Amino acid sequence: MFRISTRIVVGCLWALVLTGGLGVARLAAQAPPDGAVIALTGVRIIDGIGKPAVERGTILVSNGRITAAGASVPVPAGATRIDLAGKTVMPGMINAHAHVQNQTKTMPMRDDLVRRLRLYASYGVTTAVSLGQVDTAEQMEVVRLRDEQDRGALDRARVYTSGPSIRGLKTVEEARQTVDRYVDQKVDRIKTHVTPQMTPDQYAALIDQAHTRGMRVAAHIFTLDEAKMVLERNVDLIAHSVRDRDVDQALIDTLKRRDVGYIPTLTRDLSLVVYQSTPAFFKEPFFQRGMAVYGEQVKVLSDPGRQAKFRQDPQTKVIEKALEQGTRNLKLLSDAGVTIAMGTDSGTDEGRWPGYFEQVEMEMMVKAGLTPMQAIVSATGAAARVSKLDHVGTIAPGKAADLLVLDANPLQDIRNLRQINSVWIGGRRLGTTGTN
Ligand SMILES: [Zn+2]
Repeated sequence: MFRISTRIVVGCLWALVLTGGLGVARLAAQAPPDGAVIALTGVRIIDGIGKPAVERGTILVSNGRITAAGASVPVPAGATRIDLAGKTVMPGMINAHAHVQNQTKTMPMRDDLVRRLRLYASYGVTTAVSLGQVDTAEQMEVVRLRDEQDRGALDRARVYTSGPSIRGLKTVEEARQTVDRYVDQKVDRIKTHVTPQMTPDQYAALIDQAHTRGMRVAAHIFTLDEAKMVLERNVDLIAHSVRDRDVDQALIDTLKRRDVGYIPTLTRDLSLVVYQSTPAFFKEPFFQRGMAVYGEQVKVLSDPGRQAKFRQDPQTKVIEKALEQGTRNLKLLSDAGVTIAMGTDSGTDEGRWPGYFEQVEMEMMVKAGLTPMQAIVSATGAAARVSKLDHVGTIAPGKAADLLVLDANPLQDIRNLRQINSVWIGGRRLGTTGTN
């Protein structure tokens, strides 16, 4: 826990309300008073851009934002000083390809969405970019949650949405109209699935219309040819790995020239191969912290009949190969200097665990050959940049104080990302996450 010395009265700021179920401690509704300054001192700072970590640094937070950060930042008189000696602070993680979906029908939609956003936050993911909603009602609820987050104190991850992923359209006009409809419904971006059912002309119209309306477009792809097809039509984000063969220089050149982000979603493919038997991680306490949300699906995936189906499905072998190929391409693209953004596809179908799988994704990226620093940048500064979320993702003056405080240094071992001391969103501490 923190050692806190308070020189000014900050009301009941530090009063924690323990919520049941998720094992997530939350702050009372009261935010720090306007103008109050919090100084996090003595801490290792990982900025999210990739600069060497600052040792024994100071971060000043006021009105939900970072006002200063660095090795020699003076603490102003009257600040609330929090000694974080020995700890590491990095920006809260951004999942550039999440799905904030209502998967539980036994509770009101909004409650389910909010608990999923809280779950993300409890695992250190403070922003979820939802690339695909199930339907309009769900999309509208997510849009409402997004609008609310700029108005008040937050006890959950921020959310942004693309509306449903666009696919299966018949004409160029329909492509433009569909984009218009989603933009009119106030989505933040457009997502599309590349499939043989739609023509390149239709994708061109879709992307052009989105750009005309000021929206970026993320594309679901599987093959190198699909990635190239949408890149030639000016897509802004590649939302999955290229998984059929090695990426080539032409793809690398285009991604770099147009500064297009590439989101590997390795755990998406993991979720299609790992449930042939009961995975060991089901037993991990760190995984089980999410059981209030995960429980139903864990039961389904633990069923021997279901596991046999995975083993017998020829598609499982295909995806095993695809995952290997995607892992290899991640390293090739990262080495070539392409911007990698962390994303998981979590929150959709069975076995894609919001929160836990972002942690696993980070571990898989490092296993693929990225350094821990590269993985961290992909989940913070780079994810923010390619998602055009300028207010989050880095520790710098003016940015939202969305912070992940760790008890151990993730640059030494990426699994230290699991050593979560606390998570902050907009300058408010959500509380220790080890309270289950
Ligand atoms: Zn997805």
